[in-house]
Amino acid sequence: MNPVNPLASRLSRKSLKVGIIDLVARQPTKSVYARIANPNYTSLMPQMVAVWAEELGHQVHYLTYTGFEDLYHDLPDDVDVLFISTFTQNAYTAYSISNLFRQKNVVTVLGGPHARAYREDARQYFDYVLGLTDKELIRTLLDDCSSQKEGVLLTAQNQPKFLPGVEQRWKFIQHNLKKTRFVHVVPMIGSLGCPYQCSFCIDSQIAYQPLPYDQIREDLAFLQKQPKPPIVGWYDPNFGVRFNDYLNIIESAVPPGRMAFCAESSLSLLNEENLKRLKKNNFMVMLPGIESWFDFNTKSKQHSHFGLDKVKLVAEQVNMILRHIPYVQTNFIFGLDCDSGPAPFELTKKFVDLCPGAYPNYAFITAFGNSAPLNTQYQTEGRIIDIPFPFLDGNSGLNVRLKNYSFVEFYDHMIDLVKYSFTPAKIWRRFKVNKHPLPRWMNLLRASFSGKGLKGNYSVIRSLLAGDREFQAFYSGESHRLPKFYQEKIQQNLGPFYPHLPRKILHYLEQGEPAPNPRISNALPLYTAIPQGTTA
Ligand code: SF4
Repeated sequence: MNPVNPLASRLSRKSLKVGIIDLVARQPTKSVYARIANPNYTSLMPQMVAVWAEELGHQVHYLTYTGFEDLYHDLPDDVDVLFISTFTQNAYTAYSISNLFRQKNVVTVLGGPHARAYREDARQYFDYVLGLTDKELIRTLLDDCSSQKEGVLLTAQNQPKFLPGVEQRWKFIQHNLKKTRFVHVVPMIGSLGCPYQCSFCIDSQIAYQPLPYDQIREDLAFLQKQPKPPIVGWYDPNFGVRFNDYLNIIESAVPPGRMAFCAESSLSLLNEENLKRLKKNNFMVMLPGIESWFDFNTKSKQHSHFGLDKVKLVAEQVNMILRHIPYVQTNFIFGLDCDSGPAPFELTKKFVDLCPGAYPNYAFITAFGNSAPLNTQYQTEGRIIDIPFPFLDGNSGLNVRLKNYSFVEFYDHMIDLVKYSFTPAKIWRRFKVNKHPLPRWMNLLRASFSGKGLKGNYSVIRSLLAGDREFQAFYSGESHRLPKFYQEKIQQNLGPFYPHLPRKILHYLEQGEPAPNPRISNALPLYTAIPQGTTA
């Protein structure tokens, strides 16, 4: 791997001290909902890399940041190689940490959704940036691991055929379970990729591939023997594509009711027969994606039903799902080219009225670098706005110029929809119709924190878009100078990490120099996405 400094020989073929950081949160938080939810959102691949590294004879220091730890002080102080996995919204924290460690001659490696979406950007600040990752790739990397002037992009040809099981990952899982309160989720995965082709989704580019059934059976058998079996969170992009196979495995390994499950499945899989089986096996949480009333009908089996027809049929189905599964979150994306005028928002209000028990999760379309096919279109049409990474979470920053809405018009619709969906009366109704304690209290907490937060955030951006000249020039493309608003927020949220941001990024943030990199490169396989990690 083209060693460029004497560190190369030091790190070659010996037992290394490997640090692995999973950045779940972007910044410190005091939210009660985040306290419960965040420790249950840890990523799978950092745990897989930890197992592989140990199997290859290295010592691993694994840590997760969920917004409640003192990350700056918890950073490992004696490692040879540091892996960081992150979503784009936490990328600047990852860049700062990498910068700090590279100054100490530690080799840094980036993986996870940000690495796949923005590899060209990330390679400026890491020694290695990973795409598809398997054990062989980790072996090759750790066998000959050296600092690089320009980050090396590494990817396996395909997704791994099998992954380490729960028992192998157990000590890393326990590290995270110690942080959980009330709800204790263990991440498992039964398949990779998805047979559907939603143009905004990173998984539409990955061929559907079941993982070995024996491993899944073993994992379930191991977990159900634990004194307090946790909830299994299926991380499959679309759980149950081979529905009977997976339910047969669960039924053969776990007595009904012994364990609980949550999953993301497309509406096409959630017919009444399947739901009865899911209920029998204690599936507690289901997160289907509706996305839009005017597109993505294949995965919801809506064929030619659009607009109000689709609302009525989907509402009927979601109410049926709620009779079998206690907690249902429905995912929507706004700002798609298929949407125009007030209809998408008014129809969603109608849906909220027809399905008072479901939690409506709203996001607007976000272009994540090279992560999904829809990006090709946005790039060729020159519609990407260079909103800084920390605001790319589906709600804090809109980085696509919309086809059918002005920014102010769009934010007005979003504010109105959020106001409508999270009034005290609506929150109370949701609380009353959900009889199970989990959705009752989770929805209440979530709506109180997130609903208020969204409305406030949208209102701030909307007023800047309407009245701030600097903001208007930036959003229209007239100026590339980053509005002060973003720099101040980033500085405030990054706290002690801010001064350690790479110099190019500090210049970009503070002196209004153009974005320091080819953020988006047509030379790479193109992939856009809704908030990374929200699929099915
Ligand atoms: S959004 Fe869901 S159904 Fe569509 S490709 Fe992604 S995982 Fe599959």
